[in-house]
Amino acid sequence: MELEAQASDRMDTEECTPTPLQRELPIIRRLDEAVVNRIAAGEVIQRPVSAVKELVENSIDAGSTSITVVVKDGGLKLIQVSDDGHGIRYEDLPILCERHTTSKLSKYEDLQSIKSMGFRGEALASMTYVGHVTVTTITKDQLHGYRATYKDGVMGCEPKACAAVKGTQIMIENLFYNMAARKKTLQNSADDYSKIVDLICRFAIHHTSVSFSCRKHGAARADVQSVSKSSRLDAIRSVYGVSVAQNLLKIEVSDDPSSSSFKMDGFISNSNYIAKKIAMVLFINDRLVECGALKRAIEIVYAATLPKASKPFIYMSIKLPPEHVDVNVHPTKREVTLLNQEIIIEKIQSAMESKLRNSNESRTFREQKVDPLDNSVSTSKAASTPPSSFGTKPQKVPVHKMVRTDSQDPAGRLDAYMQSTQSSQMQRNSCLASMRSSIKERRNSRETADLTSIQELVREIDSSCHTELLDLVGHCTYLGMADDVFALLQHNTHLYLANVVNLSKELMYQQVLRRFAHFSAIQLSVPAPLWELIMLALKEDELEPEGGEQENLREKIAEMNTKVIKQKTEMLEEYFGIHIDQDELLLCLGNDVNWDDEKACFQTIAGAIANFYAFHPPLLPNPSGESLQFYKRASSGDPEEGSTSHSADDIPEEQLEQDLFSEAERAWSQREWSIQHVLFPSMRLFLKPPTSMATDGTFVKVASLEKLYKIFERC
Ligand code: ADP
Ligand code: MG
Repeated sequence: MELEAQASDRMDTEECTPTPLQRELPIIRRLDEAVVNRIAAGEVIQRPVSAVKELVENSIDAGSTSITVVVKDGGLKLIQVSDDGHGIRYEDLPILCERHTTSKLSKYEDLQSIKSMGFRGEALASMTYVGHVTVTTITKDQLHGYRATYKDGVMGCEPKACAAVKGTQIMIENLFYNMAARKKTLQNSADDYSKIVDLICRFAIHHTSVSFSCRKHGAARADVQSVSKSSRLDAIRSVYGVSVAQNLLKIEVSDDPSSSSFKMDGFISNSNYIAKKIAMVLFINDRLVECGALKRAIEIVYAATLPKASKPFIYMSIKLPPEHVDVNVHPTKREVTLLNQEIIIEKIQSAMESKLRNSNESRTFREQKVDPLDNSVSTSKAASTPPSSFGTKPQKVPVHKMVRTDSQDPAGRLDAYMQSTQSSQMQRNSCLASMRSSIKERRNSRETADLTSIQELVREIDSSCHTELLDLVGHCTYLGMADDVFALLQHNTHLYLANVVNLSKELMYQQVLRRFAHFSAIQLSVPAPLWELIMLALKEDELEPEGGEQENLREKIAEMNTKVIKQKTEMLEEYFGIHIDQDELLLCLGNDVNWDDEKACFQTIAGAIANFYAFHPPLLPNPSGESLQFYKRASSGDPEEGSTSHSADDIPEEQLEQDLFSEAERAWSQREWSIQHVLFPSMRLFLKPPTSMATDGTFVKVASLEKLYKIFERC
């Protein structure tokens, strides 16, 4: 039945009845030329954005300094690209849109040395097969310009003389009017205009000598507007926004100078830049291209070096001898393959890696130094920066959201440490679990009873919050510990000293109250000493020392913990006791308790817990400071030295109590690590600095960088 149906299909076109054998063979026919051309054109012009790319590249090839793009209906109704380039000669207009007519290539070998963007003379022709093309152009020294229309590669009628401004304007109307299916799929997708905007942004940051603008038809304001002759970084700032530009690192790689066959320069985002997807702007020999292998390699470098910022912004310009680039692999010349691709990629990878590692380790003045400049630019340019429907939208991520991303990262949360303790302290788990469930049972039945007082305390925290300090805490950069209790911070162009003991105490106090409010007090009822928490958290990060040594290390850690706990026994007992009492008190007496007393109770419990968890300096003196003498071995205890007694100063440096010394070193560096990676990220998210902190010495402004720069300049 099926065979017969097929046969009858063909019988319409065949003159004679086919024999049974002929029926089974497919018949090859020549396609209509118009169909062939349309298919080919559909490959070159896949979507409106591909037409825009071809037109803009033609304009760049024509030596333009200003290129304007206007788009209607995502490019389906109208694409218009105007430039101020050299224009098209009147004599060339008749063949302008024929296939394989070009001014850029005459023999195959030219493909190897070609420096321009287009080179196959296919773009304009293709457009005429899938849309209606109108060209208006004027060349130098002409009194008037000419306008011609094209369809299916052919000029409609004689070019008409018309008034024209310098350069060429090419208009494509009704794109894909004869490709119903394509048009339909594109009409349903709303993102073609944003693709065009994204494309123009990319051109704008590379071709900095050209000013680009792109807007919707009828719109008063352009969505991209770049200024010609600006620096690369300025161009990036004006197109992609300040938030991108201020988080970039300059990168350069080249072959050994003698061969000069490969050069790369660009900008790559640092660890502060957080985006949902990678933005990669790649130009090879000034041609906007994609190179999947390089993109993947870059993603790997980021994932390995800056896992939090693993969706980077990359701008890269690679220069290679033209014969090393095969641009012909892709019909639209978009994807390229390079000669010695692996070697080049490896070079780029290792340069990026060291750049990122360096920047990650020392996020200090160097990087922040540009801030005063950036800030001034940000205010003046902010209004014109973010293109409304820009593809990658990195500038749309508000700063606080970027910071909040930290909270997703276990390393940035105090909770993470609490939880990790619970899970790793197996021996405590069974008794904990029973305690937890019994408290949970009782707690749930009295939810509302214990809320009000806590809420009042929380409200007090909120109402006494100091707005400027909140901004400072939320947006400062931690530079390092200045001494045992003060951290050095930078906020905008100011340096501050901040008391980490006060801050961590306040943070804990606030967290305890908020947790009570959210009925998760049980997490804090685990009397886990901070040092143990930190060590457990750090354990995964540590390089594995050999077996015995590791055991030794563990023992030492345990020993140290015990010491800390012993020192705190009283408070620990008090805290634990009070806590349980309070729970009991609360749960048993409920409303009978005087509100004020309950509040005071909670306040003191929270205070005690806060004090316990605060980042007090370790009990062992800081060995990197002036306290080194504490670790010098007592002279009388050394038998080889005989009975002569020494004063502490006579003892050689090597005679240190090595164990104690390294213990202390470890304790201090772990504290510092926690201050940077736990305290500050948590503060950014959760701390509401009370007004009192502005005056009680918690924050001390030490310097203004602007003034420092001025002093340095004078020097
Ligand atoms: P190709 O760019 O590969 O040469 P195109 O079809 O894109 O092929 O363009 C054909 C020719 O038309 C170009 O070689 C160039 O001489 C001319 N042309 C196209 N656009 C412009 C323009 N904006 N300004 C000047 N000449 C242009
Ligand atoms: Mg071209």
